Formats: sequence, structure tokens, C-alpha cells
Amino acid sequence: MKDKKTKFIFVTGGVCSSLGKGISTASLGLLLEGHGYKLSIIKMDPYINIDPGTMSPFQHGEVYVTEDGAETDLDLGYYERLTNAKLTRKNSVSTGQIYYEVIMRERRGDYLGRTVQVIPHITNEIKKRIYDVANEDDLDFLLVEIGGTVGDIESIPFLEAIRQIRQELGKTRVLNVHLTLVPTITVAGEQKTKPTQHSVKELMELGILPDILLCRSSRPLTDDLKSKIALFCNVSERNVISAVDISHSIYEIPYMLHENKYDEVVLEHFGLPVKPLHLPEWDAFIKSLMNPRKKVTIAVVGKYISLQDSYRSIYEALTHGAVANNAELEIVRVESEEIERKYMGKLDELFKGVSGILVPGGFGNRGIEGKIATIEYARVNKIPLFGICLGLQCAVIEFARHVCGMENANSTEFDPTTPYPVISLLEEQEMIDKLGGTMRLGAYLCVFKDGTKIKSIYNTDSAMERHRHRFEFTLKFKQIFEDHGMVLSGFYPENNLVETIEYKDHPWFICTQFHPEFKSKPVKPHPLFKDFIRASLENTGQ
Ligand code: GLN
Repeated sequence: MKDKKTKFIFVTGGVCSSLGKGISTASLGLLLEGHGYKLSIIKMDPYINIDPGTMSPFQHGEVYVTEDGAETDLDLGYYERLTNAKLTRKNSVSTGQIYYEVIMRERRGDYLGRTVQVIPHITNEIKKRIYDVANEDDLDFLLVEIGGTVGDIESIPFLEAIRQIRQELGKTRVLNVHLTLVPTITVAGEQKTKPTQHSVKELMELGILPDILLCRSSRPLTDDLKSKIALFCNVSERNVISAVDISHSIYEIPYMLHENKYDEVVLEHFGLPVKPLHLPEWDAFIKSLMNPRKKVTIAVVGKYISLQDSYRSIYEALTHGAVANNAELEIVRVESEEIERKYMGKLDELFKGVSGILVPGGFGNRGIEGKIATIEYARVNKIPLFGICLGLQCAVIEFARHVCGMENANSTEFDPTTPYPVISLLEEQEMIDKLGGTMRLGAYLCVFKDGTKIKSIYNTDSAMERHRHRFEFTLKFKQIFEDHGMVLSGFYPENNLVETIEYKDHPWFICTQFHPEFKSKPVKPHPLFKDFIRASLENTGQ
């Protein structure tokens, strides 16, 4: 360790999933930064996959991409949006990664003579990952969220590792937070503590004593209930914190937790002074979030619409853009296959009352024609359109077919025998036969062309933006597209890859091969999202 002795906060979850462990961990990060501390956050996922890159969004929600190109759990998105922590692949750990590392070491002969076991070899590797992050960044706090629910077989090695860390460093350096559910039985209107008691019992059997119980409930816990939980679960009453359901936006969570003294109790645990919170930018964001003066309706046309988490960063970035324009955001979620089934030729009906349309990223053939029809509709009717990754690729196909006269133009991802492969694989991608971690991933430079709309929106010559794709604009068609009026407005200079496109005679039609949504924050809305919302408001005369 460096001179600064990093303090560790381990967050586990009990009773069931989806209680908001990721958001509450990110919120604690924000609050601790508001007290002047430097921190980072690690997510430890007990699944065997090396990363969620190969999982379906229906299984896992969005795959969040870090600057250095790691494909990670979407909780890292919350960490980056709420805190200043700079996250890399080291902040996303899975059982798969841990075992892979230990098995490789065994094959090299590093453990020669010894039996390789869960304890100590697997647990040592878990601890090493935690200590490495703490050592590198000279942090005041390292928050570690353990994925899954206590009681799952997969999470046991992680829980054992954090038990050992508490043993090694003691209570003054380590805090255990356990997030549980206190349900209300609707008929009796009574709040029940038993699930929490059972969950804590399970944790104690593994040798972990929780210091703080964060209790998710539909209404605040009464004092009586708190003292009951405290008595049965062996924590002080003050350390039983209400995490009450919020009504309007997830961004209310940090201050809800602050009002329930979460940050105060955390600082007290470590014997640190409790001073007033200082989060002026956050305050300003919350103020405009809660007092909108306009309303904007954006349609998101995608393939994984039924699951809210599949496009999590897109929805958040749209919210940031709306708040920056003092507008309340309504998102109309449109399943692109539904367009193919019901709305071809009737898009007016579908997009009635919509101010702007966003076509997000995706993979595979399903719903592509619905997206292409949407893009044509927005181009022709001059409705603001924001295409991201696959959204750009569909816009290129649309333009090729309907403006350049390239009948049956397509991406080779959807039609390998198309006569006009306007989107295709780079040669280096053609050689790849494995799926995991092999896309064009992470931040690359994009240089904007002079005089373009995108350059004036960014107000810089270039930007680093994050990618997650295999297919690209096919450069041999560049001239034809330009001759027909498409502006190729941004390039990756190294090998001239097309990164962004736009149309001159359209109020707002911008598509990016990169994913700008990953870098938008409440206190720092992404310029493209902010300007897209501005143009959408303008489109409906606001
Ligand atoms: N399927 C496309 C590709 O791999 C687009 C990917 C995406 O939208 N993230 O290039």
C-alpha cells in the first residue's frame, strides 16, 4: 500500500436480486466524493463467463464498454455516471477470469508440487484483484460490489475472500454493507423483517458480520422495526438504513440515502469527521430534473426493447440531454419487428407526437428492415434522427437503396451475398474465428471534418469515443455516397474508417459508429445527446 491507507467497503445483496445494489453502491460513491474523498468501484460477478460480451442482452441487459475496451456489467455504467472514478478492465471481475488466471498459472507450473484449491488459490487471486486496484490509484475508498445474492453457490469464493480481507485489515479499514429487502404484506400493510434475518444469518454462517444493513422497502422503516432488525441481526440501530422506493427518477437515490444518513454512518464507522456534503453540480442537475419546463418525446426503435436494461446507457444519456434542456423526457419504446409486422407504410401513425427518433446498436438480422424503414421516414420527413452503431449501418443501407439506387444493398452481417456490401468486415476481422472479446472495442480517436454539424456540436476537432462492433462502412463506396449528398463527417485517421455521417439538408440527422451514450453523465451531458434533444424540441416548436 502507498501512504494513503485505502479503506474497503464491501457490498453484498440478500433476499433477491434487482434491489438496486449497483445504483446504491454508485450513490454511496457520489456521496463520499461529496465529502471530498477519492474512490474507485469494482464489480465482482460470480458467473463463469469471462465477461458479459457473449451474453444476450435479454440475459444480462446492456454490455457496458470501458475506455480501455472491456465489455462489462452495466453496473459499471452507473459507477461512471455517478462518480469520477476512472474505470478499466480491472474494475470488472468474474469467476471466469479468476479461474482462467489460476488454471493458466497451474499449466505454467507456477504451483509446482501443490494441489490447487479454491482456498487459498482462488481466494488469493480474488484478493489480489482487489488490492491491485487499491494500490494503483492511491484511493481513500475502494467500494466492491459482489454480484448475485448471498446463498448462491457461485458467490461463495468471493464472500470468503472479503471475509479474509476483513480479518487481515480489521474493522477500521473494512466495512461490510448488506442490502436486503423488507417487504410489506399488502393485505395487512405490515413490514416484515424475517427475510432480512435469514439473509444475515446466511452471511454470518460464512463468517461475515454486516456493519450496515441497507433495507430496501416501499416506505421508511419505523423505529420499532429498526430496533427489531438491529437486535436480530447484530448491528446497531443507527446502522439499519432505510432505502425507500423512489417515485420519479433513479437520480433521487443518492439524496434519499443521504437523508437516511447512509454516508454519515459509513464515515462514522471509519472514525472520519462528518462535514456537510458539497456537490454543487449534482445539486444543479437535480434541481432541473425536478423542475422541467418543457416536454420531449423520443422514440427508441430497437430489437431488445422489452427489457429496460438492454439500452440502459441510451435511456440515461437521453435523460441527461433532456435535463440539460430543462425538459421532461418521455421515451416511446418501439420494437422494430413490430414495425415490420404492423406499420410498414403507416409510420405516421406510429410516430405521431414523437419529436425525435433514436436507432440504437444491435446484432443480427431480426428487425433490421423495420429500422431501415424508420430511418427512411425520418430522413424524408425531416424528423431529428440519431443513429448509433447499428443505427449508422442501417442509415447507410437505407441511403444506398433509396438514394444511390443500389438495389438490395446490405451489410454482409445480414446478407453475405448482397450485390452492394455497403457495410462489411475489415480484413483483420475476417481472420477472427472466436466471438469473445474480439470486436473493435473501447476508445478510438474520431477526427471531425471542417464545416460539419457534428464538429460544431462537439466544438472540438476530434474526440475519443467508445466502440463495440465488427462491421464498418465499406470504403470503396465512399465516393458514390458523397456524390449523392451524404456527408462523411468523422474519421478514424489511422486507416480512414468512417465514424460519423450526417445530411446537409436535414435539421438533425447524425449517426455515429461509436457509442456516445457510454460517456454521458448527469453533470456532464454528452454534447450529441444534448443537441439531439434541443433539435427535437425545436422540431415540435418548443
Ligand atoms: N452488429 C454491428 C457490428 O457488429 C453493430 C454493432 C453494434 O451496434 N454495437 O458491427
